[in-house]
Amino acid sequence: MMKLHRDGFFQEWLKTFDSWYEGYNNFTPSTNNSLEATNRVIKDEHTFRERHPLSRFFIIANDIVHRWSKSRNQKQADPIIYSTEPTITLQEWTNAYHFAKSSKSALQISSKRKGFTDYYMPAGKAQNVTTNEIQIYKMKKWTSLDQFKDFQFSIWRVTLSDNATECKSGLCNCPSFFKEYICKHIMGMAIRLKFCKPPPSAKDIPLGEKRNRGRPRKATKVLLIQ
Ligand SMILES: [Zn+2]
Repeated sequence: MMKLHRDGFFQEWLKTFDSWYEGYNNFTPSTNNSLEATNRVIKDEHTFRERHPLSRFFIIANDIVHRWSKSRNQKQADPIIYSTEPTITLQEWTNAYHFAKSSKSALQISSKRKGFTDYYMPAGKAQNVTTNEIQIYKMKKWTSLDQFKDFQFSIWRVTLSDNATECKSGLCNCPSFFKEYICKHIMGMAIRLKFCKPPPSAKDIPLGEKRNRGRPRKATKVLLIQ
């Protein structure tokens, strides 16, 4: 019985639908939180939790689109502000710089997207990734859930535009990218390729050490003067 169960899982989730893991598809939402938030605004500000006939709802929906697009127009007075590129904190710059200086190798493979290049790099403590491993990863040739998991978390794929000025719009399939839309792999590769330079303060921390969160202390200089 147990055997059958496992085969069913394997067939369904590792063979037939082998790309459900969010690492496969950038920009699929990790949670439905923003969907729920939008739903709340519709109920609280537009439909007022009432049921409407389709004709009335069409007018309301039209009004929603009109008002929402107006409020997001950045030229409008008091618009809803949103950022179009990720913010890189000093901590992230430091991590990226350390990654760039590390001995971890990255394998360069031309991307499916024109004008972009894929860089495969080992996750965790590993220093190298082989073309054979990338082949297995790309062909999705896993034979168990454990192997699937190992593969998903042992190789990161960074996609960078060949245009140096667009490095912030790079993609990665590591967990921090899904949260922040930027990660040390993207910026680290961009530093290695000389697409960008980290701020000088990112180099303050010795390689291998980690920067604490938040603003760096400013007092050290004063203390040095006797
Ligand atoms: Zn990453």
